[in-house]
Amino acid sequence: MNVADSELIASVLTGNNYELTAEIKDADVILINTCSIRDNAEQRIYKRINELQHLRKNNSGLKIGIIGCMAERVGDLLFEKEGNINFLAGPDSYRNISSIIEQSSNERVTDILLSNTETYEDILPGKHLEDGITAFVPIMRGCENFCTYCVVPFTRGKERSRPPWSIEEEIELHSKNNVFEITLLGQNVNSYSFEQTDFPDLLKNLAEKFSNLRFRFATSHPKDLSDKLIDVIASHPNICKSIHLPMQSGSSEILKRMNRKYTREWYLERVAAIMKRMPECTISTDIIAGFCGETEQDHQQTLSAMKEAGFFHAFMFKYSERPGTAAAKVLNDDVPEEVKTKRLTEIINLQQEISYKHNENDVGKTFEVMIEGTSKRNKDELMGRTSQNKVVVFPGNIGTSPPGTIVKVQISNVTSATLRGESEVVGSAKA
Ligand code: SAH
Ligand code: SF4
Repeated sequence: MNVADSELIASVLTGNNYELTAEIKDADVILINTCSIRDNAEQRIYKRINELQHLRKNNSGLKIGIIGCMAERVGDLLFEKEGNINFLAGPDSYRNISSIIEQSSNERVTDILLSNTETYEDILPGKHLEDGITAFVPIMRGCENFCTYCVVPFTRGKERSRPPWSIEEEIELHSKNNVFEITLLGQNVNSYSFEQTDFPDLLKNLAEKFSNLRFRFATSHPKDLSDKLIDVIASHPNICKSIHLPMQSGSSEILKRMNRKYTREWYLERVAAIMKRMPECTISTDIIAGFCGETEQDHQQTLSAMKEAGFFHAFMFKYSERPGTAAAKVLNDDVPEEVKTKRLTEIINLQQEISYKHNENDVGKTFEVMIEGTSKRNKDELMGRTSQNKVVVFPGNIGTSPPGTIVKVQISNVTSATLRGESEVVGSAKA
């Protein structure tokens, strides 16, 4: 989401006669787009603010601004912490970013008012900052699920859906600019709702209108992953067969305390429903270790649910208490740090085993892979992804197989993170 927001800001600024620079020492304005999801994300930002101060020596007019969730969460207190900051802008203030910057020549400026309606529907972000074949397209902003551990509803405000015409306009622009894959973004895409259009309708319409692009989306909240959505994914070859479905915990008791609004059984049933309709589909997840009151038994339930679901990939975190959330107010962060670490390590180790087995099952199979670029490790190899979102590395030359080309690759060996194989070009993704 922050990548998409940074693109949006780049668009607003270039539209106001600002120029982007790749050299930080040439910049007159530095914007740091921030995340507040865990404490260590914020600690990294404080460090960064400090590191940037030396640039003021050669540029006394330099302005440094903190934008995004941390500006929203910490507010004016940020001015009192380490380093010198000139302005703060929250996630709903990006439309005003150039006037915020200008005003900050005279005084420190804070603009962190959240909106109930802002979707930046009339601003086309383009791709100013990130190259690559994928574009991230927000379809909604904010979140009202109030999972008890999570700061997002406080930093990003009420949930609102972007009008379909605006989403289409942005995708149209991307499709003319060497983008081959669109990832639709929202904190819970399954609750997208604009007039009569729900998320399955939106996804279906986009996949059919832009049949030359392939589509992914994130994130699906398990509580409302519908059969209608599964059906739309299954019946469109250009909707990737990979679903990010954060489980958080395998214990119904913990899920209840997290206010996730589903049980272990519900979650595993949704996984089974996906796999029944699309046996080739992969599922990835997010897991939090050591949430308030988590017992060894709860933890074991997480491990067993991971095995049962058979995730091909997971993002795994230690619970980090966030000020202002319901968990911080009414629950006790009572799992000792060393127990959190031990449980997280067990979760990571188990996931590595599961990922390896998942990948091992692919040996001998042939996949369509969309080429993303040259492999980082070896310039004689190319790297791409399958529809299942697995990374594949294979011999090839970017000159003859440019990014966006679809090739067929037969898998010969694997690690827990990567598939390897031989390739045969079968055509380009775009006409
Ligand atoms: N909207 C998405 C998740 C966004 S945040 C969803 O509901 O699935 C991404 C992930 O960060 C979450 O899925 C969760 O696993 C993790 N996370 C959020 N708050 C956290 C916290 N306080 N401590 C540790 N991990 C957290
Ligand atoms: Fe946070 Fe829950 Fe909203 Fe995801 S759904 S952003 S975890 S409150």
